[in-house]
Amino acid sequence: MRERVGIYVHIPFCLSKCAYCAFASWPCLRPPSLYPAAILAQARQMAALPWSRDRVFSTLFIGGGTPTIYPAATLKPLLSGLREIFNFVPAPEITIESNPNTLSLDLLQSLRQAGVNRLSIGIQSFNDDLLKGVGRSHTRQEALQALAWAGKAEFTNVNIDLIYGLPGQSMQSFAADLTLALEFAPAHLALYQLTLEEGTVLARAMADQQLHLPEEDQVIEMELAAQATLGRAGYEHYEVANFCRPGRQCRHNLNYWQNGSYLGLGAAAVSCLSGLRISNVASPGRYQRQLNSGQAPYAEVEALGRAASFRETVIMGLRRCQGVKIAELKQRFALTPQGYYQEILDELVVDGLLLIDQERMALSQRGLALANQVLHRLV
Ligand code: SF4
Repeated sequence: MRERVGIYVHIPFCLSKCAYCAFASWPCLRPPSLYPAAILAQARQMAALPWSRDRVFSTLFIGGGTPTIYPAATLKPLLSGLREIFNFVPAPEITIESNPNTLSLDLLQSLRQAGVNRLSIGIQSFNDDLLKGVGRSHTRQEALQALAWAGKAEFTNVNIDLIYGLPGQSMQSFAADLTLALEFAPAHLALYQLTLEEGTVLARAMADQQLHLPEEDQVIEMELAAQATLGRAGYEHYEVANFCRPGRQCRHNLNYWQNGSYLGLGAAAVSCLSGLRISNVASPGRYQRQLNSGQAPYAEVEALGRAASFRETVIMGLRRCQGVKIAELKQRFALTPQGYYQEILDELVVDGLLLIDQERMALSQRGLALANQVLHRLV
């Protein structure tokens, strides 16, 4: 059977730049009209690789940035072009990321017709003051409207992104966000802890002592309370930040967490082709120019060695609540976590952050709440 892999498409444009955002995204009111054609040009280049010809694509994820900054008239041909260029399974999972104030009922209905069957909405909070505090460009009302339209457009697989640990956010305020999100019975919820990334407006405000974040204990309390609420509501906690109704895991992301192969199209996108990592140039203008002149838009091509691939597989796999299977790692890399990491693992176990038995290694509940710090020690 041919290996099933995914395709990620990066649309790096947003209406404005959020204060915490360190992603490859550029604010603009009108995204460049020729960028989608450049994506299709790269798609044709990559589809011609022998690697692609031997594979079948089971997921397509249009992420950003804010892909829905483009109108249906642009997104529909992009989707149909990708489906013509690549060999997809009969019912691929096709996700698009969005922000509430770029959605309309018309756009959502068009996306459904174009085959998009999973909608991810970056709501982050339903509290207007908190949204404003981190420079989000939408309001609570727009978020509620977007969710209502998603239902009307018959999206049955909707993900809601929420953030906790926002400046000025209380336990009660986060609990209220979660309760309201659950009223829409989304198939999937992603709960992200706010992190201060270098170079962002929030990181600068922190350095200037102008930022008041909830205490770390309070943030962990928010996370543990959310896990309990979602558990009671029937959601499975399957990855550090991700919860779903039974059977509604994001298939595209599961492939990343298993350190599987994928193609990345668009500026700043990364591909991983059986251990060969290819990073595209980050600048959208340069990306377009290189493709217009017939060149591959690569910034870096790197072959990952056995040890690096092993580490990545462990780190990505530990993001899943079920953790990693030790026998599978041994079979794939001829390495075991105990042999490779030695005393680091003992320290994590003693600190109550990691659980290991003969078969598996997984983060404990506290380890999941502190996942970024724990996984950093295994890099
Ligand atoms: S909408 Fe997302 S990608 Fe765009 S600026 Fe905000 S956080 Fe960054």
